[in-house]
Amino acid sequence: MDNEKCIYCGSKDIEKGVKFVRAHSDAHYTVGPVYGKKDALLGMQQCEPVYADICKSCGSLRLWVWETDREWVK
Ligand SMILES: [Zn+2]
Repeated sequence: MDNEKCIYCGSKDIEKGVKFVRAHSDAHYTVGPVYGKKDALLGMQQCEPVYADICKSCGSLRLWVWETDREWVK
């Protein structure tokens, strides 16, 4: 993983694991895919935190989550 190159420009200058959030006033809210029971009330579902690896050369992002085995809501 440490030798990973940007798939777009080939640069190795990548800032990894930056938390991906939506800024709202002075608080931060997580933005990410939702999981939980599909018919549950909105507040019962949860949002998986998304992280970004940022290529500091061309600015492209790779988005990823730690936990992949969720009951994803579509
Ligand atoms: Zn790049």
